[in-house]
Amino acid sequence: MSEYGVISKEIIEQFILILEEEWVERDPEVLARYSHDETEDLRFLPELALSPRTPEQISEILRICSEHRIPVTPRGAGTGLSGGAIPVRGGVVISTWRMNDILEIDPHNMMVITEPGVITQELQEEVRKFNLYYPPDPASKGSCFIGGNVAENSGGPRAVKYGVVKDWVLNLEVVLPNGDIIWTGANTLKNSTGYNLTQLFVGSEGTLGIITKIVLRLIPYPPHRITLLAPFRQMRKAMEAVSAIFMKGLNPSALEFMERDALVRAMEFAGRGALPLDEKTQAHLLIEVDGFKMDPLYEDCEKISEILEDFDVGEILIADNEKDKAALWHLRSRVAEAVKAHSVYKEEDTVVPRAYLPQLIDKVKEIGRKYGFQSVCYGHAGDGNLHVNILKGDLSDRFWNEGLNEALRELFIEVRKLGGTISGEHGIGWVQKAFLPIVFSPAEITAMKNIKKIFDPLNILNPDKIFP
Ligand SMILES: Cc1cc2nc3c(=O)[nH]c(=O)nc-3n(C[C@H](O)[C@H](O)[C@H](O)COP(=O)(O)OP(=O)(O)OC[C@H]3O[C@@H](n4cnc5c(N)ncnc54)[C@H](O)[C@@H]3O)c2cc1C
Repeated sequence: MSEYGVISKEIIEQFILILEEEWVERDPEVLARYSHDETEDLRFLPELALSPRTPEQISEILRICSEHRIPVTPRGAGTGLSGGAIPVRGGVVISTWRMNDILEIDPHNMMVITEPGVITQELQEEVRKFNLYYPPDPASKGSCFIGGNVAENSGGPRAVKYGVVKDWVLNLEVVLPNGDIIWTGANTLKNSTGYNLTQLFVGSEGTLGIITKIVLRLIPYPPHRITLLAPFRQMRKAMEAVSAIFMKGLNPSALEFMERDALVRAMEFAGRGALPLDEKTQAHLLIEVDGFKMDPLYEDCEKISEILEDFDVGEILIADNEKDKAALWHLRSRVAEAVKAHSVYKEEDTVVPRAYLPQLIDKVKEIGRKYGFQSVCYGHAGDGNLHVNILKGDLSDRFWNEGLNEALRELFIEVRKLGGTISGEHGIGWVQKAFLPIVFSPAEITAMKNIKKIFDPLNILNPDKIFP
């Protein structure tokens, strides 16, 4: 018997009183939309999907769910890649899509206060009108929500220079599972007052509370950027070049890796912007520099080109006009979808100290050969973050459902040996939790579980996520 309560007719009526009928969804066809995110092909149907407009409504809903012990899954745009927003225990999904106002842009203090359901790219475009910049830009920025980004501590190409979401969050309003509404910190650039609850909620994957307001710091918008596409004959050499660039004192605003297959599939998928691709090219680095004046950027590009000479680089493509830059970034941003369009897949989000990227790519390919799977690798090389997409292709269902886990375990043990970890930006969610003990000791996992118990003693909020 389930340890969780049943959603009775009376409970549904209470939700309708709080939200109005329209925002309490029971139609199975509509609920199917809430049964999955962008993670593989997993599906779990919720019993209800609720679309509140205010933190107070969420508070009332959570009080009822606490009273009756009903599982609750918070949801942003559902673009997650670790199954965090999938309602694995059924129950109620709380979707934040209606909480989509940017509440205040404060150019004097360079900060923005926003609701969680704002699309990340829209937030970036709005602050840009004030010449301000919010740099974190996951490749899904055109569809994911800023609340989901905070809950996942998302990254993206520009994290290499500007950091990930955690580096931009100043303060959060959160509704706790018992219905209490709290602020985690202050709208200040410094804060040494009590525990750092703000950073505890960043990356907590909807397991500790529902984030209802977000205060982000901003910086002046750097108007100039140049993008380079550098081809390499050997994947390993491309990876070796990554740390060499930083060791020479350069600070690119993006440094992305794409193995040949990733770029080829992106070009096919995007259906435009085909690039000349030498048969011997095995991989590319997409490198960007940004700043407030063009001349120093050209100097940086020259220095980068000189460094890459030592790594057997081919002819480097330089994009310094908007059209060419957009074409290159368009291809990069389509890689994930392009790879997935070909086959059932599993996406891994390995990250190592960046000087160990050559060893990581060697291990990925070696384990692939041993277990007989094909992988397409790409990702944020500047951060040491490599996305490993394993394609099902002709592999048997049996291997896919059982044998592959053994291969992944072997890969993650190698990642750990290199000083890395199993997720750089996609989170643990539902699909990676079995591997958590590879990177954390029992004492470390117990410490985290105890934190969960303090905030959510009834285990109603996003149950069965993160912990094995
Ligand atoms: C094509 C593609 C490219 C991607 N590229 C990147 C990338 O470059 N970098 C990167 O980091 N990620 C990337 N992602 C992954 C994904 O977009 C991010 O994890 C994103 O932050 C998820 O946001 P979302 O609004 O879709 O959240 P969802 O998927 O809806 O939810 C994600 C998690 O956050 C929780 N959650 C959502 N909203 C709240 C809230 N208000 N309060 C509490 N918890 C909440 C959910 O319960 C869940 O655990 C990509 C995904 C796709 C499909």
